[in-house]
Amino acid sequence: MRLFLGLVLCGIVWMSASAQERCASASIGAVSTSAQTASDPSTLPPVITIPVVVHILWRMPEENISDNQILSQLESINADFDRRNADFTQVPSVFAARSAATGIRFVLATTDPEGRPTTGILRKQTSALLWINDDRIKSSQTGGSDPWDPQSYLNIWVGNLSSSLLGFSSFPGAPAAKDGIVIRYNVFGSRGRLSPPWNLGRTLTHEAGHWLGLRHLWGDTPCGDDGIDDTPRQKAGNRGIPAFPLLRSECANGPDGDMFMNFMDLSDDAALLMFTRGQAALMRQQFYGLRKGILGSKGAGEPWNLTAAQAARPRFYPNPACGYIQIEGIPSDTQVQIFNSEGQFILQHKMGAGRMDLPHLPPGIYRLRLGREEQTMIVQR
Ligand SMILES: [Zn+2]
Repeated sequence: MRLFLGLVLCGIVWMSASAQERCASASIGAVSTSAQTASDPSTLPPVITIPVVVHILWRMPEENISDNQILSQLESINADFDRRNADFTQVPSVFAARSAATGIRFVLATTDPEGRPTTGILRKQTSALLWINDDRIKSSQTGGSDPWDPQSYLNIWVGNLSSSLLGFSSFPGAPAAKDGIVIRYNVFGSRGRLSPPWNLGRTLTHEAGHWLGLRHLWGDTPCGDDGIDDTPRQKAGNRGIPAFPLLRSECANGPDGDMFMNFMDLSDDAALLMFTRGQAALMRQQFYGLRKGILGSKGAGEPWNLTAAQAARPRFYPNPACGYIQIEGIPSDTQVQIFNSEGQFILQHKMGAGRMDLPHLPPGIYRLRLGREEQTMIVQR
């Protein structure tokens, strides 16, 4: 969880004294259990793809964030999880040596639980003024939006959270109705009307770490531990943009001090830069345990439940595209044209149905003209 209370606080433990529940305490047992039952991570696919469904709950128009802002969040979390974040170069070398690309990738769902085509984005108007961490946003009965099967999808709810709350996540093993991540609309993404210093999409990176079983570095106790060997003990969560080395003599974590640039700390977005190898391994182990359903998910595949009208339309997949698209349902002499989101022509192919390579097409939103039809295409890295 990431909270802003003048200072940023965040915790897994139940803070009954302050009447604030922060992330689920019951989940801590589930994290260690799944880590123990993981058997042979070497047989996991090198890249694990998690289909994501984003539930936008909005009352004011600015809360109904754009597709472009949502896409920017997918781009930034994928860069962070793949250690492709441009600011990674700021990691001190002693910690960079422990860093890892996780081999975990997030894509907007292309197929809903019934096999129908989807953009992976659900928009719902609500009368709710503010959401808090009571999970009401996760149920249509309480004004929110019902989750898709969390065995097959990562559900992310985006709404207007109370001003102190940036986001929160369930841990592996949570009840299905509560499984997923909640993020405030103006800290979701890295393009759009965002609220500095939480404007680089790192709230989702942090919460996705929790969703995959990671705890805060300090284990939510002073000088505590997160159960991972290559992260140092820390006194507590940091804030702002600390300078290296940040020594806390109480925890004897010298000479390198706190790993304040770890995504599971609470520093500003601009200071959060890396996961460690130990963290990456624990996250991947979840796919042998409580998150193994994701490996069998059809959520990022091709829809199989099309109406007659949909089946008759030209179509392409995958969308989001990554390097190429496969086009179906148009004659072989049909021209295929690609325009950017501003309507500028990018490239064309007179090839009709079949495979179309998209070399060097930067991530973004495009219009794909298939004969007389235009469809939206998202390109992800
Ligand atoms: Zn947290």
